[in-house]
Amino acid sequence: MATAYVNAKVYTVDPSKPWAEAFLVKEDGTFGEVGTTAEISAKAPANIVDLKGQFVMPGMHDAHCHLLIASQEKLFEAKLGLDAGPKEVVERFKAYAGSCNHLETVGNWLIGNFYHYANFPDEKPDREFLDKAFGDQPVVIREYTTHNIFANTAALKAAGYDVDNPPDDPWDGYYVRRPDGSITGELVEGAAKNMWAAIPKGTPESHLEALEYGVKMANRFGFTAVQEASANAVYLEAAKALDEAGKMTINLDAHVVYWGWAFSQEIPDTLIKSINNAHKYATKHFNPNMVKFWLDGVPWHPHLTHCPLDAEEPEKPDYKKILVPLQVFDMAIDRLDKEGRTCKVHCCGQGSARHALDTFEKIRAKRPNGVRHEIAHNMDVHPDDFKRYKELGITAEMSPAVWHDKDYQPEYNPMSVYPFTGLRDAGALLTIGSDWVFAPETPNIFPALQALLEGRKGWEMTREQILKIVTIDGAFAVGRDKDEGSIEPGKLANFIILDRDMTSAEEIATTIVKKTFFEGKEVYDYDSDELKHFQGRSG
Ligand SMILES: [Zn+2]
Repeated sequence: MATAYVNAKVYTVDPSKPWAEAFLVKEDGTFGEVGTTAEISAKAPANIVDLKGQFVMPGMHDAHCHLLIASQEKLFEAKLGLDAGPKEVVERFKAYAGSCNHLETVGNWLIGNFYHYANFPDEKPDREFLDKAFGDQPVVIREYTTHNIFANTAALKAAGYDVDNPPDDPWDGYYVRRPDGSITGELVEGAAKNMWAAIPKGTPESHLEALEYGVKMANRFGFTAVQEASANAVYLEAAKALDEAGKMTINLDAHVVYWGWAFSQEIPDTLIKSINNAHKYATKHFNPNMVKFWLDGVPWHPHLTHCPLDAEEPEKPDYKKILVPLQVFDMAIDRLDKEGRTCKVHCCGQGSARHALDTFEKIRAKRPNGVRHEIAHNMDVHPDDFKRYKELGITAEMSPAVWHDKDYQPEYNPMSVYPFTGLRDAGALLTIGSDWVFAPETPNIFPALQALLEGRKGWEMTREQILKIVTIDGAFAVGRDKDEGSIEPGKLANFIILDRDMTSAEEIATTIVKKTFFEGKEVYDYDSDELKHFQGRSG
């Protein structure tokens, strides 16, 4: 039987009818009529649910998330905290090692998150203190940016690094060194690739458990659609299995990594197999056919690995800082565009964004009607490039959604520009991604949305714009706008009930998701949630 939801404040995101009081959800999980309480109540036979004036909107789209690794971190790895110096790192690892919930997933390795340079002498963590505390046990810690990693001697040896004869730096990264040239154990970008590949990957059961946790976390924060920004071989297996078990309560579009180490934890040799075979893992709610590239690193201290424009020839990117061999990137984008597969390209500097746009321009000259691609992050884009997003049909995916945090605002970090209004005024399709995995404990985007409403220069957005960005525009970016992203007859009944009206509440940073529905079924309920304390935090 259909269910009628009545007496609500329904913000539909359908421009032809932005507000309603009630709607029908049909037995097949799609919306029926949308209208007034009187109209919809009259559509008997239907169960009637009185929403008592609550605010309802479409389920949101998280345009950039790392569901599996974020969840593995939270469930199985040591939580060291961003305040941890050497003493706290050792204490917290020891407390965690005693809890042993990690043993079956990563063996005797100790994996922790995160270290922050500011807490170490000379801003350089040195493996010596880990060696003293843990001896032969491999220990690794992700950096707060999640791009780099710090390892003790046992882990370095296990991953094949020649610790006694300090290696030369690779072309796409470097080793942090002591004054005598020996390595401290901090591995930056490409220098970490063997370490990422060597870290134990866990069991299929642990992947499934973690992905289920991640999907529930997405539902908890109002998401019914997510883009996975770093799928790999284990991810494809886990997502397919989770959907087949009936637990995939989001529509998930996954970008399998073509090039990039830290998040794939694999090397290109094996990643290419997953890219070629991705279609075999497609299920009803899982589309694994998108692809991811990291063109550069991040503009955050102390390892500034983003790609700026060239200092001498400022119309060009500083090609030395592009982390994918140029020819590989050209050929791969051409191939994937021909195959109609959306590519998401990580770009954190003005130079990498320009290089991605230049590459897309070449393929659009060849195939004017090709598929929509994305540039991820867009922390800093040269204003001359704003208009190219619309011209080339490129989505400007804005992430990580941490710009409300002081450390990531332009006055504290000149490269954290996030040019929302510049891109909007140039007609770019904008989306927002939590980039969960990165330091925040949850994928909560409400504090970041609030920051876009406070009139800061470059971020002057309206409520209607941000609600559209996190719903229908996200759906459009992945080609699902016919099925989701607004409350309209015939679309999937993916909707959320919030504790306040997003179109008028003065403060939305602390918004609480009361319920989430996916294909008409309730998949999240705040009142019975054991982890409800995660919600309603303003930062
Ligand atoms: Zn990411």
